Amino acid sequence: MPHTTAPEEIRPSSFDAHHPPQKQHIDECVHCGFCLPVCPTYVLWGEEMDSPRGRIYMIKKASQGAAPLDGPFQQHMDNCLGCMACMTACPSGVQYNRLIEPVRAQLERNTPRTFADLLFRKLIFATFPHPDRLRRMAGPLRAYQQSGLQALVRWSGVLGLLPRRLAAMEALLPAVPADAASSLPERIQPAAPPRLRVGMLSGCVQPVFFPHVNAATARVLAAEGCEVVIPRQQECCGALMLHSGLESDAAELARRMIAAFEAANVDAIVINSAGCGSTMKEYGELLRDDPAWAARAAAFSAKCKDVAEILCELEPQAPRHPLPLRVAYHDACHLQHAQGVRQQPRRLLAGIPHLEVAEIPEGHLCCGSAGVYNLLEPEAASALGDRKVDHLLTTNAQAVLSANPGCLLQLMNGLRRRGLKAIPTFHMVELLDASIRGVSAGELLRQDKTRGGEANWRA
Ligand code: SF4
Ligand code: SF4
Repeated sequence: MPHTTAPEEIRPSSFDAHHPPQKQHIDECVHCGFCLPVCPTYVLWGEEMDSPRGRIYMIKKASQGAAPLDGPFQQHMDNCLGCMACMTACPSGVQYNRLIEPVRAQLERNTPRTFADLLFRKLIFATFPHPDRLRRMAGPLRAYQQSGLQALVRWSGVLGLLPRRLAAMEALLPAVPADAASSLPERIQPAAPPRLRVGMLSGCVQPVFFPHVNAATARVLAAEGCEVVIPRQQECCGALMLHSGLESDAAELARRMIAAFEAANVDAIVINSAGCGSTMKEYGELLRDDPAWAARAAAFSAKCKDVAEILCELEPQAPRHPLPLRVAYHDACHLQHAQGVRQQPRRLLAGIPHLEVAEIPEGHLCCGSAGVYNLLEPEAASALGDRKVDHLLTTNAQAVLSANPGCLLQLMNGLRRRGLKAIPTFHMVELLDASIRGVSAGELLRQDKTRGGEANWRA
């Protein structure tokens, strides 16, 4: 009898027709497994379905209609930090971002979530992407901290009675500076012969919890001959939405951001937050189907630069003063993996006399921050945060640097869990600023403890 094989059953894809993950991107994966050792969830759990290769396999199955989107599929996709370390490691050039982002949007449209999960997500998206709301919250939060109530709450153990995600939110709250509601001028003139006119993203969390970082960024840019424009009309860049599958919300915010910066007519757009930068560089892709915005979005994205990129391109001219310190530089995933910006911050730091920069072992691995991942998946995020702090401590650094507010919060929290809150954390640009201004190392380390007086960009 001739051997016959049954024709493969053709089932409809589990994804809907709006931007499903593309077969060409799925098929780029050759299952070699080089990405496994750099994937934080695979490192934590050793589970194939929590590795990039496993996730791509599940996406393939779902696109063939062989796996439903709810249940384990949703859980393994939710477990992914979106750190993009797999893209850096992949020898076949798999564009994992082109897979996970459409999948997240599909999940948000097509799979139900529990009431508690939905409520918590609504709380996050009603808060963090709204700088005006964060500003209004700054006063009460500062009162909570300054009155000693926060210390009492943390000491009492009452946080252990809260749902784990709310407890994680409280644990991540940094010291709210006195001038959290202040803002920088809309236009800052260059403090050196003019070289460039740049727009600056102020961000959502940054102006409230890290106003000193925006102030330092503006001062360094001005010192290097940039006219800095900070459009008042700018809102959230949509990064948190995009990385959580809220595609249409992210697209709407992208349109508003583009319009705000088009009106400013700048040569480049400077971003000092890695997660925001990687999203703004993707606006062209996000709005590719919108005939009214596709070209404008692509032009906007082409102008976006991380602050380290633009400062390297400009070639530093402002004199640097010595900062005799040993620091550890932590690479933000959305800078090193998503944007490929790894050498530029190191080059800039190397230009500061007497500054010693230590490499953190396992630098490719995420600290667990990953946008709102540390709020949504606090156990995994804490495990990664603790692992990062362990490695950080081996460097004997006097301070730790990063280029992303989320990483700074995560590192502060990890250090606090170890009772090591005395190790200061800085944005990379704050060290450049201190060096240009001639701030002494001792003064800089003290500033970390007296946050709040530094938002004046003239300081
Ligand atoms: S390294 Fe690239 S090709 Fe290899 S398994 Fe991972 S994603 Fe697939
Ligand atoms: S994005 Fe990060 S967590 Fe997700 S699969 Fe890739 S390496 Fe793993």
